[in-house]
Amino acid sequence: MALARLLLVLFALLAALPGRAAPAPTPPLKPLTVYFFDVGQGDAALIVSPTGKTVLIDGGPPEADEALVPRLRQLLQGPIDLVIMSHPHLDHLGGLAKVIQAVGAKRFMDPGFDHPSEAYRKLLEVVGQKVGQVMTPTPNPSAPETLLTVGLGEGVTLTVLWPRTPRDAFLDDTRSDVNANSIVAKVTYGKTAFLFTGDAEPETEAFLLRKPIDFTSTVLKVAHHGGKHSSTAPFLAAVKPQAAVISCGTGNDYGHPTSEALQRLGDVGARIFRTDLQGEVLAVSNGNTVTLTPQKGRSAPVVVTGQTTGPVAKGPMPSGASGSASATGGKVVPASGKLPAPAASAKGMRYVSLKGSEVFHSEDCRALERAKTQERTVYKDRASAMRERRPAKDCDP
Ligand SMILES: [Zn+2]
Ligand SMILES: [Zn+2]
Repeated sequence: MALARLLLVLFALLAALPGRAAPAPTPPLKPLTVYFFDVGQGDAALIVSPTGKTVLIDGGPPEADEALVPRLRQLLQGPIDLVIMSHPHLDHLGGLAKVIQAVGAKRFMDPGFDHPSEAYRKLLEVVGQKVGQVMTPTPNPSAPETLLTVGLGEGVTLTVLWPRTPRDAFLDDTRSDVNANSIVAKVTYGKTAFLFTGDAEPETEAFLLRKPIDFTSTVLKVAHHGGKHSSTAPFLAAVKPQAAVISCGTGNDYGHPTSEALQRLGDVGARIFRTDLQGEVLAVSNGNTVTLTPQKGRSAPVVVTGQTTGPVAKGPMPSGASGSASATGGKVVPASGKLPAPAASAKGMRYVSLKGSEVFHSEDCRALERAKTQERTVYKDRASAMRERRPAKDCDP
């Protein structure tokens, strides 16, 4: 018996020697789950981090709320931590107002690219009433070269790659400037990553490719529902997606996804998932692999392997805008990692809207200084400004 014990001890010692023992299996990490909802022709995806932090990216078209709200109620235990609207098109924001009213949201982020539509104005009204904090993807003025990141716990990080105004001006003269300035965000977890591209245009992809960013992502939420212009070959070569999720409606009028985009995704070897054919797609990452399970049909789960990814930013972000504006007089944007408490409305502060504008600024905003000669309306308090206009994105009054 003593000999057996001695042998055991010897064995244990040998096993502990470096280089001799088989590597101890790393315990599986807690899962990061992404639900790509079936919202018909539109986008909506919910990220649930290993610690239960939740981020909703887009809310589908208006008719999506009937199914989306009960689905979110099933999945959520409290208000959504962060709602991101990739861009103000109806197939992305249509269901968001009802979602926010029904399940609540602690923070809201949109690209800050103005788009005059009734639905967007109404959504911002609901955000103004129901959401504590409005974030912008603007780089932090104290560190304008770094990308904005939001920590979701257990090493999960959401990094906003685009837009980065005022450091980089919004893209213009594109096929659709609203699409081109979609929020593009990368969520990383261990060796796996998810890239969300909204309805990014080829110009967005080309512009981003000039930045020192590691785009490598295990799962790509395909831009613009698989439209033929986006998902360019150079962009896909940089992303190297193992799996690609296309969110679109069955028999939609736009012909999404297009054969061109499907071909290019196939060329880089991505496994393709489509909400129009397969319904909701569930993607679960354990930090090493991602298991994708379509909820409809007989498709079996597909496991794809995460590629070791380093830091998202491979260096400071050089500014792409000529004569890039300095930090505005507005409030400081949330710093990396921490989500600050909602700012209280300043006492005695007046609010100003320029003639013909749908937004209002705080009276000390530099945007007003630049437009000294323009006619304006002055509001004595925020509530009265909110009744007629919505907060400007530069000073976020
Ligand atoms: Zn769009
Ligand atoms: Zn869209």
